[in-house]
Amino acid sequence: MTTLRTPAQLCDHGLAPPDQRAALDAVAGRYAVALPQALADLIDPNDPHDPIARQFVPDAAELVTQLEELADPIGDDAHTPVEGIVHRYPDRVLLKLTPICAVYCRFCFRREMVGPEKGKALSAAAFERALDYIRSRPEIWEVILTGGDPLVLSPRRLRDVMKRLAAIDHVKVLRVHTRVPVAEPAKVTADLVRAIKVKGKPTYLALHINHPRELTQAARAACARLADAGIPLLGQSVLLAGVNDTPQLLAELMRALVECRIKPYYLHHGDLAPGTAHLRTDITTGQDLMRALRGRLSGLCQPAYVLDIPGGHGKSPIGPNYLTPAGPNGSAHYMVEDFNGGRRRYPPAG
Ligand code: SF4
Repeated sequence: MTTLRTPAQLCDHGLAPPDQRAALDAVAGRYAVALPQALADLIDPNDPHDPIARQFVPDAAELVTQLEELADPIGDDAHTPVEGIVHRYPDRVLLKLTPICAVYCRFCFRREMVGPEKGKALSAAAFERALDYIRSRPEIWEVILTGGDPLVLSPRRLRDVMKRLAAIDHVKVLRVHTRVPVAEPAKVTADLVRAIKVKGKPTYLALHINHPRELTQAARAACARLADAGIPLLGQSVLLAGVNDTPQLLAELMRALVECRIKPYYLHHGDLAPGTAHLRTDITTGQDLMRALRGRLSGLCQPAYVLDIPGGHGKSPIGPNYLTPAGPNGSAHYMVEDFNGGRRRYPPAG
């Protein structure tokens, strides 16, 4: 087995129910499917609620689109001044080089844009126009290579892209968003690591990981190759119903990330992508989980719980609030909640 790409292959390997085949074919006709061996091996075919399968094996529920769900839930299109660029915040841009991913997540916020049928790789001419856009805007401090998954590109192509970006004086930081170290850890070769590391400009790597089981020995070794090369690693996780929405699992995930030298960065609330309602939690659940983490785990293990506001208005932190004003309006007195849920006066009464 290498990568499974059709419901027929998933059924043949016992990873999808054959009696659902027609519905799953309809799902695959709408949204890309790819399940590489490293992730397929993690699925327990006897567990109908397997958290790895929930993330990557298509489900008939994806055919149901809710009224509030949107084809472009975080509003990339509204902020695309030239092909391949999303410029939402003043000091940074996204650069989308390819619509291809190593694995297609069933909850993907770009599911209408990723996959071999959905888009095309940025052409050489479009890449030059994207570079011109970045060059002509000195306020762009950071360039973020994102999905599809930039690490599916060859090391040679990546090296060229990174060098060209690093040569722009005002671009000080490069960032790459990827799922490759968990989806295809063998792809993280010394050549690939060298390709994303450029002289004089730091490259941060943001890894998308949602369940501790994804951090296999091979994935951990791939992360170690990146960390040993001096590449700072950040963790991005999506809060998903039936995957990581318990305090125990989320705690295990955050600790596993830190043990792999990956600093938890964001815990994303599930986006309103079409056909993903069965994987979304509500915001109150997310806030309760964040409270549970705050009480139990080291500060290193605390991500920011964020919501991408539909329509392209950017991310906002939506974690629980620990501070409430106390006393008359305008006074600098507060009640602050401690990690046990106790309420303390600040400043303390004299
Ligand atoms: S790897 Fe990222 S871009 Fe690709 S399908 Fe998963 S969430 Fe979407």
